[in-house]
Amino acid sequence: TEACLSAIEGSGAINAFVHKTADLAREQAAAAQGRIEAGDAPDMCGIPMGIKDLFCTKGVPSQAASGILNGFTPEYESTISQKLFDAGTVMLGKLNMDEFAMGSSNETSVYGNVVNPWRSKTSNADLTPGGSSGGSSAAVAADLCLAATGTDTGGSIRQPAALTGTVGLKPTYGRCSRWGVVAFASSLDQAGPMTKTVRDAAILGRAMMGHDAKDSTSVDMPVPDFEAMLTGDIRGQSIGIPKEYRMDGMPEDIAKLWAEGADMLRDAGAKIVDISLPHTKYALPAYYVIAPAEASSNLARYDGVRFGHRAALAQGDGITEMYEKTRAEGFGPEVKRRIMIGTYVLSAGFYDAYYNRARRVRTLIKKDFEDVFAQGIDAILTPATPSAAFPLGQMADADPVEMYLNDVFTVTVNLAGLPGVALPTGLDAEGLPLGLQLIGKPWEEGALLNTAQVLE
Ligand code: GLN
Repeated sequence: TEACLSAIEGSGAINAFVHKTADLAREQAAAAQGRIEAGDAPDMCGIPMGIKDLFCTKGVPSQAASGILNGFTPEYESTISQKLFDAGTVMLGKLNMDEFAMGSSNETSVYGNVVNPWRSKTSNADLTPGGSSGGSSAAVAADLCLAATGTDTGGSIRQPAALTGTVGLKPTYGRCSRWGVVAFASSLDQAGPMTKTVRDAAILGRAMMGHDAKDSTSVDMPVPDFEAMLTGDIRGQSIGIPKEYRMDGMPEDIAKLWAEGADMLRDAGAKIVDISLPHTKYALPAYYVIAPAEASSNLARYDGVRFGHRAALAQGDGITEMYEKTRAEGFGPEVKRRIMIGTYVLSAGFYDAYYNRARRVRTLIKKDFEDVFAQGIDAILTPATPSAAFPLGQMADADPVEMYLNDVFTVTVNLAGLPGVALPTGLDAEGLPLGLQLIGKPWEEGALLNTAQVLE
């Protein structure tokens, strides 16, 4: 804990920690020490972690990196952070992220962007750590903490993991309680671990998962000992390679990494099978209808009354002006764009044309996966991202759709509610990390991590 606290002190340029909790960390570390000495130490006891700012932490500012939650300090603890504290972890502080988890580069944060600790061999440009869990990925990659929590609505654990050479697991929808996690798109949101190794993801993932009566979508299923399932034995497994993920213009580095990953799994005794997920090309458009629709509804609660920021009002302003001014000042441009898209696709005249159609596409995407699993496929191997980490500013200044294209390999997993893990498997010509993604069957995170470990 002390080593991490001093590393964090010297890490201002990375801008990963937006709120430090050194006093609390020292208190928790001392309590963990006591449990270890008493011989009552769970797996996570004494492990110093960072918590994404999307998790509500009691008595500690929790702003989801938004101006509208300025001054909001929760009276309650999210189920996940509570579970981690019960397991003896130490919270070093809150981690930067895209505002309300909307983004793929951590540039929409009210706290400013995060800088990826990795640099290219030929350019000195600051690179993105990915998003929205960019503070989490950068903090783990820069050794500011041993692990971090992330959340993944459309790739926000897996994409930043891939861009920083770390491991990110998005569990099956329903595995982790969403209670106390600021909602973005509730039917897609899922928390998960961001770690240095697959083994760490197995240990931390288990500590985060489990049924919670306070979240009606949390599922009451046993959480196995994932670490004990890491045998390295994948003989007889069938790994699918979906042809629809071979995008036009895929960079050579990524295509090569993907082929090498398949070879490694084959060498370990798995069977590599070409598969088809025919509705893949509709995933991104469906996601960028469904996620904003749910966001526009979830974000209606930020009204200047109940949470955080309220605008200064002029003489004669009524409640409408109060809402308008507060929301105009409090939300950043990307969040406003999502609210407008979401409100539009849910409006009476367009609901069937956009929202209902996107929901039907979602069902077809889910069925694509069910079909391949029914044919005997155990896991699916794809690239995690279409490129390595890109320079800050580059995409943020372009058309927003350019940024959305970063999520092309990750959003299908959220739409289908499946577990997915991204892990580093190589470097590109610039010396930057590249990651692969493995997608698994529902509730089979253990088997998925076991396969992932073969690629490490
Ligand atoms: N980039 C996606 C978005 O902006 C992912 C978000 C997420 O997973 N939280 O919606």
